[in-house]
Amino acid sequence: MRLALLEKAARDNRLAHLLLFHGESAVHQREVALRLAQILNCGNTTSEGPCQNCATCRKIRSGNHPEVSWLKPLKTTIGIEQILTWQEKIYLKHYEGNYKVAIIEQADALTLPAANSLLKVIEEPPARTVIILCAKNAESILTTIQSRAQLVYFPNLSQEIWVQELEEVDEQEASLAFRLSGKNQNLATDIIRHGVTLLQEWVGTFETAVEERNFLKLFTLFPLDKHQALLYLQVMAVQAQEGIQKGTIYPYKFLAIGKAIDVIRQQANPRLVIEVLALELFQQGGARCD
Ligand SMILES: [Zn+2]
Repeated sequence: MRLALLEKAARDNRLAHLLLFHGESAVHQREVALRLAQILNCGNTTSEGPCQNCATCRKIRSGNHPEVSWLKPLKTTIGIEQILTWQEKIYLKHYEGNYKVAIIEQADALTLPAANSLLKVIEEPPARTVIILCAKNAESILTTIQSRAQLVYFPNLSQEIWVQELEEVDEQEASLAFRLSGKNQNLATDIIRHGVTLLQEWVGTFETAVEERNFLKLFTLFPLDKHQALLYLQVMAVQAQEGIQKGTIYPYKFLAIGKAIDVIRQQANPRLVIEVLALELFQQGGARCD
């Protein structure tokens, strides 16, 4: 969701009561959370934003507004005690201001008991209260919390600029391409031009064929020109590399894909190379560690 829409929703008093900010830039997330808290409470908010001059705006900015709270890990995690203390304040009557805004930074660090007691608060939302969770990965948040939240993705800055330059590209598609490319902008642009869905289908079919050792399924992957083959293999290489880091993929898969890329670059027939690669992966007994 675009930030301008989020601000407009805040101005119109129809902001979702639970927001989940996710993405690389914690600083940007913090800024937007602060601005939303100001918009919700400043008496002089216009379409330009909060006035930044009134006592409310200034108190929020300096972290001294009684209704705007910031919670972050005391050490490495946010434990249940922290959430219980916070929860007491959340249900108190409004002391001043329109809205309570509770910002939980590094929400990835919530322990499971803490996340569960947070979930109880979310299920019985206190009046005129907006809770903003800030996290690197939305997936690290309890799915039952995720499903109740409005997700707002914060791309890292270079990605943001890249998306703007592309023009007329669906934001979600762009961030997917960016992820598939391992944050390589040139590769991501290639993926967009080619079509993210097409690419995912091809790679998915290849992976299934290898897992099932199904040679017939491989036939459905062709014809394929050299450029397509290189694009697909590069994305598979990125995924394999990430898999190695997570310990879900054996390193030989990455090496085999790398070799295939080199051979295709040397003018070999892409179909032949991909079939050889699949055979190699068949023989290694699939590519996953499980
Ligand atoms: Zn103000």
